[in-house]
Amino acid sequence: MTDVMVFTDLDGSLLDHETYAFDAALPALEALAQAGIRVSVVSSKTRAEIMPLVAQLKLEGPIIAENGAIIAYADGTIDSAGHIDDIREALNTLPEAVRAAIKGFGDMSVTEVSELTGLDETAATLAAKREASEPFLWSGEGVPDTDLLADKGFYIIRGGRFYHLIPRRDKAEAIMRVIAQNNKSDVQIWALGDGPNDVSMLLAADRGALICNPHLQVTAQLPSTHTLYLTKQVGPSGWAEAIFTFLAEKKT
Ligand SMILES: [Mg+2]
Repeated sequence: MTDVMVFTDLDGSLLDHETYAFDAALPALEALAQAGIRVSVVSSKTRAEIMPLVAQLKLEGPIIAENGAIIAYADGTIDSAGHIDDIREALNTLPEAVRAAIKGFGDMSVTEVSELTGLDETAATLAAKREASEPFLWSGEGVPDTDLLADKGFYIIRGGRFYHLIPRRDKAEAIMRVIAQNNKSDVQIWALGDGPNDVSMLLAADRGALICNPHLQVTAQLPSTHTLYLTKQVGPSGWAEAIFTFLAEKKT
């Protein structure tokens, strides 16, 4: 029988966008555990933020943090696509007017991160522990040029709350690295997410679910040929809806 690996975004997907609650997803997580299907978190969050949650939910798959820039395996191996110091250094090479429009986590106090994310100070401290990517707010005109720092090897993607300056490895590429490490030829990938930064991994998966998020207009970005499952419910309820749909498909 084909092995399945589930890769999921957190905020707005497995976790409620506002409250970070996940209760509505628990029955689906239990069903996956019973089917012996491992779940990997793929998030813009840091490893420090994801680890307690993964332990709490007993998720056994490798952790993909910071939008793919960091992969953490169960044996303690860390596969990092870049280093935060290089990214912050690259930011400072931008023309003054552009640099002034960018406010990265490195430019903020923990209190500011806390206010912007709605996380308490303890959680915000973990969120600020960046290893290989920098979330930022943009106060310039329109949207920032995604290739602003391409010559330095970094590019910009849009997440749910922030833009992210990341090394050249996105969520989809990180998943492919995990699959390659897995040494199993016949693995089916299910991926779930709600943001523009999830689209590449959803389209690369064998079965992808776009979790409904009224704050984001992601469906407009999808190619007309996509076969993603679009959930009716938002957040963890939509997550459970997609997982139960995929589990039912697998049985037939
Ligand atoms: Mg999200």
